[in-house]
Amino acid sequence: MSSNKEKYEKLDISILFVEDDIIIQKTTTHILENMVSEIRIAGDGKQGIELYLARKPDLVITDIEMPEMNGIQMAKAILEMDPEKPIVIMTSHVESEFLIDAINLGIKGFLPKPVIHKTLYHLLQKFYSEIQMKNEFIKNQSRVNKIMNFQQTMVILTDGINVLDINGTVLEFFDFQSKQAFLEACPTILDLIPVFDQFLDEGTENWVQSFLRSGAIQNNRVRFINPKSKEFRTFLIRYNRVPEENIYIFNLTDVTEIEQKTISLEKKAFTDDLTKIYNRSKFQEVFDAELTKIHEIPDLAFALIMFDIDHFKSVNDTYGHNVGDTVLVDLVEEVKKTIRRTDSFFRWGGEEFLLILPSTDSNGAAILAEKIRSRVEARKFSIDRKVTVSLGVTEVTSIDKMVTVLERADSALYEAKYSGRNRYILR
Ligand code: GH3
Ligand code: MG
Ligand code: MG
Repeated sequence: MSSNKEKYEKLDISILFVEDDIIIQKTTTHILENMVSEIRIAGDGKQGIELYLARKPDLVITDIEMPEMNGIQMAKAILEMDPEKPIVIMTSHVESEFLIDAINLGIKGFLPKPVIHKTLYHLLQKFYSEIQMKNEFIKNQSRVNKIMNFQQTMVILTDGINVLDINGTVLEFFDFQSKQAFLEACPTILDLIPVFDQFLDEGTENWVQSFLRSGAIQNNRVRFINPKSKEFRTFLIRYNRVPEENIYIFNLTDVTEIEQKTISLEKKAFTDDLTKIYNRSKFQEVFDAELTKIHEIPDLAFALIMFDIDHFKSVNDTYGHNVGDTVLVDLVEEVKKTIRRTDSFFRWGGEEFLLILPSTDSNGAAILAEKIRSRVEARKFSIDRKVTVSLGVTEVTSIDKMVTVLERADSALYEAKYSGRNRYILR
């Protein structure tokens, strides 16, 4: 081995050097010390494995023929633990019979004996950049993992079918102890079928099928059951495709609270404060839905009743406004007992109400109107006088519009009032 005074820039890698020949061990160690930042020395394969386990070096350089355990056996044991670990074998001509074994094992580098400085340094440089790249990759991957786990939303990485990765929020929600356990239970996105699916609501395919077919799932809602709390949670799905790669990042944002708030605000907006039945704002929606039905289904009818308390001003004037309110509430209670679940009940104005009666013709509506009239008349209210109502009844036809129906009901009610009150008129 020539003593070479050339200066080498030290590479920041750790090396395990395994060699039984004391002279080669000393001289090569001396050379390596000038080239790398950390070096550990073992005298045979067995010692080599012990040191490997203790130090986890970046690179292993080993002799082949050694007592106890030879270099090939040691390399095999290391590669079984860390299949990607770079291992360099120092060879002389006599040992060439081992080379085939080494190559088959997946040994990545060979260094001829006796060692030439330049060749050694060149080899180290090559592994150094590989090791650096790998470290960089691992660092990036752990950074990606950190970013994913930082997300409050459920993040699912997929190639379009297979689940590639998930973040901690997914594990936590679906109550899995590890990523591995999750991936075993849900290897593909087809395994992520929710209990509610906006797509199933609107068609026949679920969100995954829709995504696979058309990708059209942006901002749609799915609902999963939380296995721990057994409560339903609603998620908004969004996804991005990683440019130039066949990877999709799904983001599922929990919108349960927002959804509940929206529903309760919506409900509030459509509810009458005093009587808790629908207010006027809800009428158009229900009416339009029924009108659509009778357009679509021939022979289907629906009817409407408009009614108003008789001489209610006098109730207020006699008993006060609060008592008047109680009468309104009690009246609503009585009517609710009389109508069907499918009927819709609206407070139209002060003491004026509307009923939409699906699948009901004029005969059925007239029967109900009479029932309401007689039951209100018979009811004992909190005041020592009878309360009565007048009603206008009409059947809706497919040529009707909302205004024409309301006009008809109103004029029927008007007629009921001026022909004596406490009665219904069908128009
Ligand atoms: P008619 O038989 O012709 O319907 O006579 P009426 O007195 O019932 O009709 P009018 O329209 O003259 O009076 C309606 C009364 O209803 C006047 C108003 O004070 C009362 N009213 C409207 N909204 C409320 C309410 O929320 N609470 C109470 N207590 N009274 C109300
Ligand atoms: Mg009135
Ligand atoms: Mg009135």
